Amino acid sequence: MNVLIVYAHPEPRSFNGALKDAAAHTLASAGHEVQFSDLYAMRWSPALGESDFAGGRADAGYLDLPREQEHAFAACSLCETVRTEQVKVEWADLMVFQFPLWWFSMPAILKGWVDRVFSRGFAYSAGRKYGSGHFKGKRAMLSITTGTASTLYEPNGIDGDMLHVLWPIHNGILAYTGFTVLPPFIAWMPARVSASTRASYLDEYALRLQNLDRDEPLFFHPWRDYDDTQRLKPGVKARSSVQWNTRAGQTFETAAESYLSSPGANGKQQDA
Ligand code: FAD
Repeated sequence: MNVLIVYAHPEPRSFNGALKDAAAHTLASAGHEVQFSDLYAMRWSPALGESDFAGGRADAGYLDLPREQEHAFAACSLCETVRTEQVKVEWADLMVFQFPLWWFSMPAILKGWVDRVFSRGFAYSAGRKYGSGHFKGKRAMLSITTGTASTLYEPNGIDGDMLHVLWPIHNGILAYTGFTVLPPFIAWMPARVSASTRASYLDEYALRLQNLDRDEPLFFHPWRDYDDTQRLKPGVKARSSVQWNTRAGQTFETAAESYLSSPGANGKQQDA
C-alpha cells in the first residue's frame, strides 16, 4: 500500500511529530511505501491565488478560482509546487492528515494545502462528488491531537461531539472527493497527560495502523438515500451523526441516539 502522510506541525519534536514518526516506522515495517508532505519544513504557502496559474490563465481579466483551477489542470499548467503534491495524492492508496486540532479545525497551513492541491478538475468536477468522487477507491484518515480531554468532545460535552467537529473535514473534504473515510485516531491532550499515557498513545496508533483493514469506515449516506434536491428521502433515517431527516419527522435527539447506537461511531480512546 502507498501511504501519503500530510503533516502540519511546526515543531519536529512535538507529539504530532512523534505520531508521524511512529506511523512512518510502523507502515514501513509492514512493507508499505510512505511519502510525506511536511508542510512547515516545505515552507508551504497556504494562500490560493493567482500565482498557481502563472503558466497561463483562462481569463486574465478576472480571477475566477475554480475556473482557473480547472483550466490549469486540463492544460497541465498548474504551478509545479501544486502539481507535485497532486502526484503524491494520485500515488497514495491511503492519505493521513497528521495535525493538532486548532480552533476546532486544521492548522491554516494544512487547510491551504487542501485549497490549492484539491483543485477543481483534479479533486472534484461537475457531477463528480461523494460516491462518484475523483478519489473513489482511496482511503483517508485523520490523526489528531487535542488540548483538552475526550469528555469535552462527547455528545453532551461543552465542545460538542468530536465527529461533529470533524464533519467539515471528514465529509466536506474527504468524503466529498470520494475517499473512504476511516475513523480518526485521537491522542487526547498529549501535553497534559503522563509520559506513560503518551507512550500508550504511540502504541495504540501503531496497533491501529497495523490493523487498518479491520477498520469500519465512517458512515455517509449513499446517493440512493437522497432525492433530486439532494436531501434525505422521506423515510430514510439519518445515520451520519450530524444530519437528521426533518421530513421523516425524525428529531435531532433520535438522530443522535441512532448515531450513539452505531458501532464504532466515536473514538475508542479513554479519557486522558
Ligand atoms: P506538544 O506540546 O508538542 O507535545 C506534548 C508532549 O509530548 C511534550 O511534552 C513533548 O515533549 C511530548 N513528546 C514529544 N515526543 C514524544 C514521544 N516520542 N514520546 C512521548 N512524549 C513525547 N485544542 C483543542 O482541543 N481544541 C482547539 O480548538 C484548539 N485550538 C488551538 C488553537 C491554537 C492556535 C493552538 C496553538 C492550540 C489549540 N489547541 C486546541 C491545543 C492544541 O490542540 C494542542 O496544543 C496540541 O494538540 C498538542 O499537540 P502537540 O503535538 O503540539 O503537543
